[in-house]
Amino acid sequence: MPKYDFDMITIGAGSGGVRASRVAGRFGARVAVVENSRTGGTCVMRGCVPKKLLVMASHFAEDFEDSRGFGWAPGAAAFDWPALIAGKDRELDRLEGVYHRILREADVHEIEGTGRLVDPHTVEVAGRTHTAGHILVSTGGWPTMPKIPGIEHVITSNEALDLPELPKRIVIVGGGYIAVEFAGIFNALGAEVHLIIRADNILRGFDDAVRNALRDEMTKRGIRIHAESRVGSIEKAGDTYSLHLQQAEMMETDLVMYATGRAPNTRGLGLDDVGVEVNAKGAIVVDEYSRSSVDNIFAVGDVTDRVNLTPVALAEGTAVANTLFGGTPTVVDYENIPSAVFSQPPVGTVGLTEDAARRRTDVDIYLSRFRPMKHTLSGRDELTLMKIIVDRKTDRVLGCHMVGPDAPEIVQGIAIALKCGATKAQFDATIGIHPTAAEEFVTMREKLPDHEAHAV
Ligand code: NDP
Repeated sequence: MPKYDFDMITIGAGSGGVRASRVAGRFGARVAVVENSRTGGTCVMRGCVPKKLLVMASHFAEDFEDSRGFGWAPGAAAFDWPALIAGKDRELDRLEGVYHRILREADVHEIEGTGRLVDPHTVEVAGRTHTAGHILVSTGGWPTMPKIPGIEHVITSNEALDLPELPKRIVIVGGGYIAVEFAGIFNALGAEVHLIIRADNILRGFDDAVRNALRDEMTKRGIRIHAESRVGSIEKAGDTYSLHLQQAEMMETDLVMYATGRAPNTRGLGLDDVGVEVNAKGAIVVDEYSRSSVDNIFAVGDVTDRVNLTPVALAEGTAVANTLFGGTPTVVDYENIPSAVFSQPPVGTVGLTEDAARRRTDVDIYLSRFRPMKHTLSGRDELTLMKIIVDRKTDRVLGCHMVGPDAPEIVQGIAIALKCGATKAQFDATIGIHPTAAEEFVTMREKLPDHEAHAV
């Protein structure tokens, strides 16, 4: 008789939890996964996937306009928001089915409900207890909002993906990934979009050239960015919301969305009771093997607030399964993690920003700004930005950044080069694919003069 019901119980069937469970299952471990909402978690059900479908939908508006310069005369296009949401929902249902199948095929047992730790080996779900040798917490995160009067009237990205109708006007508060992406979606679909940011620019932490380039392109597209602004309170009268800004301004709109960050989902898990340490933000503190302060309890993904990206949670989930059941203790390498912002135009980035690189070493900066070929005929006033940051001593490429069409697709490939430690000379020795935007990454020869580099 085994000592426990399972070898591992995973709490949370999102990207990290499902990955760890199914890899562990394939190693022959007896695994159960507990989930109180839809299998697939934030990325599949409330994040990356539905958001990207909305980004794709919104791009058509621009494509129809741009096609005129290529000889097309598109008729009056009509957009049906409920049809888009219904299509998106069908796809999420399909994906949820795929996730159930993946778990089934790995012999992972699914338990519906909210899991709570009773002791280091026992999880209670809906009044029943289940025991396991190891527990994996992968409960993700949830949107957070400042406590201001009227905050109960606002929506978050969760609701934005399921709106019954497209608002005519929307105010989005925040300047991170989510705010910038949704600003692009609603603007392209025809809404009047105001973005309220407390800082002087969007996308804190990104390279300044990227931040400036994206801000300019968003502004050209009609998104109104209110920098260094804060909302004091929100009132609702009928279908209209009034925002009182701390700069004494008033703003009226049809919908207010907050995208002011996310917090780890650790409340109610019973972590305190079993001695699992959390930090000031409520994130589970883990070591390089994702092991918590309790020996047999592990945590992966956003609940640990390390690098909050789906592919990172997947890597962490795989590593935990390898460590516990595959006989290969595995740590995740957090160097050179590429990421993208699906703004319009999108951002792709890997490696260090210029500022971060300069804090480490002397650098050379290569920068190119050009009109994408498509817009020579479309007439659209849009510039692509590409930037390479090179270690002056070693010639190693430390960072690559792009704002422009297909940036995420292009930078994924560039990320392999950085992972391999590529030098600028190796970039230069690579033959370009012509005519593409991507070839610019291997044809930038002129470094910026030192005094200009930092000012870009
Ligand atoms: P971010 O942490 O990226 O951005 C939060 C934004 O809200 C910042 O602009 C911040 O301003 C602002 N903010 C924070 N608190 C307040 C406040 N009290 N009042 C006004 N503004 C405030 O969070 P997101 O919600 O955009 O995204 C959450 C996470 O989800 C990200 O960290 C990312 O990892 C992930 N994600 C990734 C995506 C991708 O890979 N494409 C897409 C979407 C999400 P300031 O800059 O001044 O601090």
